[in-house]
Amino acid sequence: MRILLIGPPGAGKGTQAEKLAAHLKIPRITTGDLFRKAVQNKSPLGLKVQSYLEKGALVPDKVVLELMEERMAKPDCKEGFILDGFPRTVGQAEGLEKWMVQREMVLDQVFALDVPEEEAVLRISGRRQCSSCGSAYHTRYHPPKKEGVCDPCGGKVVQRKDDEEKTVRHRLKVYSQETAPLLHFYGKKGLLKKVDGSQSPETVFKNIGSLIK
Ligand code: AMP
Repeated sequence: MRILLIGPPGAGKGTQAEKLAAHLKIPRITTGDLFRKAVQNKSPLGLKVQSYLEKGALVPDKVVLELMEERMAKPDCKEGFILDGFPRTVGQAEGLEKWMVQREMVLDQVFALDVPEEEAVLRISGRRQCSSCGSAYHTRYHPPKKEGVCDPCGGKVVQRKDDEEKTVRHRLKVYSQETAPLLHFYGKKGLLKKVDGSQSPETVFKNIGSLIK
């Protein structure tokens, strides 16, 4: 099963991709995580993409496609994958299609999650993370017991630089300009299913589950 999740930042792609990957027992491939890890490790890829991530701008298609083609060719992807955050431009979608056709693979389904812009801003700009163990928090929905301190490990709870409100608004603009055209791209192919992302994660997952063929 090869599934793709599209949606603006804050629509809940990551949460749903994680649930789907566990349910279908196939890997979830998240470009944002791969890039953040590369930046953290200061690898050559990380140095190349750092400034794009900090600004909330898209990494050039060529770099993204090279990374993803290498990742999707790994043995754990034989039975399929959930793509979360890729493709994000029509150029990336065309690159993915070409790569799949060469391997006689097909994309099974594309789910488009959506939330109103203000809800997306609220969700993302309140997001926090422990800088030591990675535990996730939210200032409104799930704050740590002591402000700024991680519950299990006592590490420092911080905000991702690109989750600051100004950058979130920029990322949303980039989404509507660069990524939203993919709805038309996959709609034309009959692969697109729209899902309301403003409901609880459990309800969204149930709705996606009922649409999986
Ligand atoms: P995310 O966590 O999915 O919002 O991704 C964080 C950042 O990684 C984005 O703001 C981009 O700078 C970069 N990024 C992730 N996926 C892609 C992609 N498919 N194409 C271009 N840039 C990406």
